[in-house]
Formats: sequence, C-alpha cells, structure tokens
Amino acid sequence: MQDPPDPAAGAGTQTRHDLHGEYPRAATVEDFCHNLAAVQARIDAACQRAGRDPGQVRLLPVSKTVDPARIRLAHAAGCTMLGENKVQEAFAKWEAMADLADLRWSLIGHLQTNKARYVARFAHEFQALDSLRVAEALDRRLQAEGRSLDVFVQVNTSGEASKYGLAPEAVAGFLRGLPAFASLKVRGLMTLALFSPDPTRVRECFIALRNLRDGLRQDTPAGMDLDGLSMGMSGDYEIAVEEGATVVRVGQAIFGARALPDSHYWPAGATGPT
Ligand SMILES: *Cc1c(COP(=O)(O)O)cnc(C)c1O
Repeated sequence: MQDPPDPAAGAGTQTRHDLHGEYPRAATVEDFCHNLAAVQARIDAACQRAGRDPGQVRLLPVSKTVDPARIRLAHAAGCTMLGENKVQEAFAKWEAMADLADLRWSLIGHLQTNKARYVARFAHEFQALDSLRVAEALDRRLQAEGRSLDVFVQVNTSGEASKYGLAPEAVAGFLRGLPAFASLKVRGLMTLALFSPDPTRVRECFIALRNLRDGLRQDTPAGMDLDGLSMGMSGDYEIAVEEGATVVRVGQAIFGARALPDSHYWPAGATGPT
C-alpha cells in the first residue's frame, strides 16, 4: 500500500535549468539506455514523493535538432515515440525513418494553418492546439487522410506575452468548439512553465494547469478526455511530476545539450533557460 501523499512532499525540489549545456551528448545505444534510465529513476522518485503511480507518467523524449543517425540509436534503446517542435523537421525525419514501423511522432510546437496538411499525414499526437482555425484545418486534412490525431490544448500558465497557448480563462469556451472536429481526440492540456531558477514560480504554473483541468472536468463536452497533463522538460520535469504531470517532454537530459539556442524554438523575446 502507498502512503498518503504528504502535502509538503517535494517542496524542496529544485529546477535543473542550470544543467543546460552540461548534459553530455548521447552517442551510443548504451548512452541512451543510461540517460533514459536516469530520467525514469527521477520520475519514479518524484512519483514516490507525491504518492503517485509511475505508470501514470509517460516520458516523451524530444529529438529536435537530433539527426536521424542518432535518433536510430535512441530507437534501438527503446524510444518508440518522439517529440518534435517544428513540423517540417519532424516530417523530414518521419520520411527518413519510415522503415522503423513502430516509431511514432508527437508534434509539440506551434502550428500554422498552412502546415496542417503535413501533420495530418504523419503525426500521431499534437500537443500545441490553441486555435480553432488550426483545429479546422487539421480536421479537414485528417478526414481526407482517413486518420485521427490525439491532441492536447496548450495553455499559457506563465502569463508571458511571448508564450503560445490560450489564456486559462479562454480554455472552457475553446473546448466547446472542438467536438465539431471529429478526427481530433482531445487527451488533455499542455503547458510550458516559466523559465526561472525559482522553483516556486515554476511549480505555480504546473499547479495552475492541474487546477484548470480539475475545474473543467465538471462540464467537459461528451466524449472528451481531459485527464492528460503534459508539463515538464529537462529543467523542471521532477516538479511537474510532483504536481500531476501525465506526460513529460524531455530532450536535453536524454540526447545531450542542444547547440541551437532555445530562441529558435520559442517566439522572439522569450527568455530561454539560463
Ligand atoms: C524542446 C522542447 C522541450 C524539451 O526541452 P529540453 O530542455 O530539451 O528538455 C519540451 N517542450 C517543448 C514544447 C519543446 O519545444
């Protein structure tokens, strides 16, 4: 039997943004096995602190900027679903690795309407839905392909103008518009926390997403599943797990530090981890 969760458990967990640049580059299958096991052990420990079942947390490795040769090593180490921020990069990798039949792709970055057709062809999951225009475009392309797509609605919990995602108060109305798009299977909410070395402020973003989800559950449109909470990345996933994450999106702690600055992946003006 598990002990009841201690409300103060994990209160001392720190962010790890300061490790950026120090994650060594994984270059062999053994490196990937080692890194995946290390991240999983930290997820398990965070679950332990919060009285959660580790089986409820999915680790989504994020392979942006990583070339197909190294992605194949990660696949050999057991990665069967990978997150990518940019559609064209993801689409090119899907084409380059079409021989890996069990490898699925999750798009976790902002999408423009005119690129919906690419997503509809190859993606299994899309975590950054924040506009009905994009939902409409995706649904039309998915119907044409005879496919469906798991989606998470992206919420801006940090209040930073530079972040994508809906304002928390706009989510209820947004969800009411989604049943019109039958090929989109809503799985939950997604957020990027504030990039801050202050774990209290980071944790507040994760708590805000969970509270929003809990409040919305009362009157979710029929057939919609809001259980999922995609939150946490290399610098803050342990805090996210303590606060209820069901998906953590981890890149650098598995693949190694990225050469490209994070400003390449977030809107201009967004401050990256320090
Ligand atoms: C890159 C990225 C991540 C992972 O970030 P790491 O620092 O590599 O763990 C998570 N979520 C989104 C949306 C990303 O673009």
